[in-house]
Amino acid sequence: MNTRIYVLKFPKEVIDQPIISNLVKKYDLEFNILKATILLQQEGVMVLEFLGHKANVKKGIAYLNEMGVTVKSMAGNIHRDDEKCYQCGACTGICPTGALSLHRPDMAVLFDEAKCTACGLCVPVCPARAMEVSLNGNVDLAA
Ligand code: SF4
Ligand code: SF4
Repeated sequence: MNTRIYVLKFPKEVIDQPIISNLVKKYDLEFNILKATILLQQEGVMVLEFLGHKANVKKGIAYLNEMGVTVKSMAGNIHRDDEKCYQCGACTGICPTGALSLHRPDMAVLFDEAKCTACGLCVPVCPARAMEVSLNGNVDLAA
């Protein structure tokens, strides 16, 4: 199973179509909607966490593209607020990619953004809310 966060931009022509429910039916994907909004021009933007086999996620994204939906990975858009992080280490056990790791012997908690796939698992486990999902960075919602 693979989990990853994507930003989807729906053109106004397809906004009333059951595209997301087709993803579930056709590609056996589960998802969580993290954010949904309608832009001024009547375009829709959604931030979704997909859960499913990698091959199905790939097919689902191809389907979205066929329907005219722009899909961008949130990878690179998870950030750590170093002022909030108090190095408790709770996130290191849950991070599947090693992006969050313990450095020995000083036991510092390191965050390597290059290894982060934006799965989002660290966000709810951090007691300090130091791990943040950002819509800035390389995701341009107006593109
Ligand atoms: S769980 Fe939060 S506070 Fe604890 S080390 Fe990880 S980022 Fe820092
Ligand atoms: S740092 Fe957080 S969002 Fe990035 S891979 Fe690890 S658990 Fe997932």
